[in-house]
Formats: sequence, C-alpha cells, structure tokens
Amino acid sequence: MKDFDFEKLEEFDNHKLVQFIFDRTTGLRGFIAIHRVRNYKPSLGATRLWRYATEIDALKDALLLSKAMSYKSALAGLPYGGAKAVLIFSPKVKKDRRQFFTSYAKKLNDLGGKFITGTDVGVEDRDVKTMKAYTPYVIGTKVEPAFYTAVGVYYGIQEALRHFFGSKDVRGRSFALQGVGKTGLQILKMIYPAAGKIFIADIDKQKVKKAKRRFPRVKIASPASIIRQRVDVFSPCAIGGVLNSKNTTYLRAKIVAGSANNQLKEKYVDSLLYKLGILYVPDYVINAGGLISVVDEMEHKKPSKKKILQKIAHIPETLKSIFNKSTKERKPTGLVANQLAKIAVDQ
Ligand code: NAD
Repeated sequence: MKDFDFEKLEEFDNHKLVQFIFDRTTGLRGFIAIHRVRNYKPSLGATRLWRYATEIDALKDALLLSKAMSYKSALAGLPYGGAKAVLIFSPKVKKDRRQFFTSYAKKLNDLGGKFITGTDVGVEDRDVKTMKAYTPYVIGTKVEPAFYTAVGVYYGIQEALRHFFGSKDVRGRSFALQGVGKTGLQILKMIYPAAGKIFIADIDKQKVKKAKRRFPRVKIASPASIIRQRVDVFSPCAIGGVLNSKNTTYLRAKIVAGSANNQLKEKYVDSLLYKLGILYVPDYVINAGGLISVVDEMEHKKPSKKKILQKIAHIPETLKSIFNKSTKERKPTGLVANQLAKIAVDQ
C-alpha cells in the first residue's frame, strides 16, 4: 500500500483517518477507517472479518461502511462520528483465532480510544472475549446488538408497510429473507408468528437447517433466487452490495427493508428502485438499533433495555419523515436520507 493515493478512490469522503493494520505472525491484515470525529468523542463502528479478493476491495468497504456509520449515528440522534474496521480473512485465522484477535486488539490500543468497535459479520462473541482481555476499546459485550438491530428493522418494516399499504400490520405479509445469521434469525423470529409466506436463503446450509428446524413453516430458496421471490418485503440481512443495476430489475418485492449495511451496490440503484415503485428503506436508518444499544452500554455502567428500546422507537419516526419527503419531492428515499444525514454529520 506504499504511496497509495486514497483521495483518488471514489469511496474516499475526506475521511479523518485511514490506517492499514498488519501483523505477519498472526496473519492480521486490514484497515481501520475513521470517517468523522464529532464533539471530540470517539468514533464508533463494528469490525468485519471477510474474504476480500484484494486489499483495495477491503479498503473500499472500510471507507463506505465508515461513512454509513457516520450517517447512521447522525440520523439516530447520536453524537458520535462513524468508523469501521475490516479485517481480511487469512488461513491463519482458522489456525489460531485467539492470536489473530489478540494482535488486532493491540492495534486498537495504538489508536488510544479514537476508535471504539463492536462485532460485525465474521466476528464472533468468543473473539470479543479475546479482545476484551487486551483492550478497553471493544463494546457490545453487555448488550445483544443483533437483537436490538432486529427490533429496529422490525419497526422499520412496519413503518414501510404502513407507507406502502396503509397498514403496518405484518399479518399475512410475505417475506424473502436473505441471510439467517445473527440479525436475520432474530427478524425471522419476530415476523414468524403473524407473517404469511416466508422464504429464507443463506450460503451457510447449517444456518438454513437450523432456521427451518426452529421455524418449520419457512420455505427455503437458493441464495441465487431469493431476490426473485414475489413477496411484499425483500429483507437483505447478509452482506452489502446485494442490489445492483441488473438484479434489481428482477426484484418482485414491493419493499426492500433489512439489516445489512450498504445494500445498494451502485448509487444508481436507489433511483432505479424509486422508478420501479419499490420502497427502499435506507439501510443505515433501519439498522441503527445495534449502534443505539452499544452506545448505551458505553455511556452507562449498566445498559438499560428500556432506554435502548425508547430510542429505537424513534427509527420509524425518522423513516416516516424520509418516506414523506421522498413522496413530496419525488426523490428516491436513499437520496433523501443521505441529504438529511450529510447536513447532520458535517455541521
Ligand atoms: P451474520 O454473519 O451473523 O449473518 C449473515 C448471514 O448471511 C450469514 O449466515 C451468512 O452465511 C449469510 N450470507 C452471506 N452472504 C450471503 C448471500 N450471498 N446469500 C445469502 N446469505 C448470505 O451477520 P449479522 O450480524 O446478522 O449481520 C448481517 C448484516 O447486517 C451485515 O451486513 C451487517 O453489517 C449488518 N448489521 C448487523 C448489525 C448487528 O447488530 N449484528 C447491526 C447493523 C447492521
């Protein structure tokens, strides 16, 4: 990465800090990106461990995800800037996971608390426990962020249903869930009792089996066909960039609302969804519940479920104003959310 010109990347948004992290012994390689620092407070964002094809792919993901974290925090009314760490999967993770996350925890200490992190895709509870022993800059151990994320997504789905159909009732509504991991499974649990047809897909067959065992009424779709299901709600709960300008035209859902970060591969997809009459629920707004919960943990010795849920209850209100503005100004919902968030972040 020597002499690399970050500024030339389209994903670079005048980030405050971009750091390459590396430890040959443990196989650690990745990036920490701090998008914004607000109110002299630490910047927050989870850590992702993923199989990136190249370092540039990982860097771009870190830049985009950290920006989304700033936007998420701002529209959730939290006073923190956004950040993100992405770690590139290495065979050494499998060999010695403990060593890998220990070396990562030490890198966090080098930043002296400017970046505080939680868990994202690929990082497990046992990794957080490892990291906790070496750094104070890890959060999300006293709360269950995936649960709170799912609560926010559930409320957001209800608000989207209200906007689209005139009623927030989940009863009889059909769903296609892409990914039944930590958040997807929780969302499934919440919609299952009332929903109509539910399709699920996951690239991990074990997770599909587990979900089917717990929720026998679900129908299993292949990861390739989940997007094409004729349903009311397509819920992306896996990895980012799942909707591009090509596959979006195959969507048969009326609403896109899920937990995944950065669901739209290209900016244009936001306009495309709008033109197709599909209601896109901006990802960083609907999935803010996890962030709200870890902030409560960070700010108070004992996190309060009641206070967390009270804050999450504002997510549908924010969405309502985005949907209404979108209708009034004839603009895509993603664009409306970005405009609102940008003002809040850069003020
Ligand atoms: P997870 O790793 O527990 O679950 C993701 C699931 O998606 C896994 O089971 C994985 O096998 C599956 N998957 C990956 N690619 C797939 C594909 N192409 N098709 C179908 N399934 C696929 O992660 P999670 O915590 O549930 O997070 C899911 C998404 O939500 C991520 O984008 C994450 O950034 C976002 N998110 C999570 C939280 C949280 O609190 N965990 C908060 C906000 C946003």
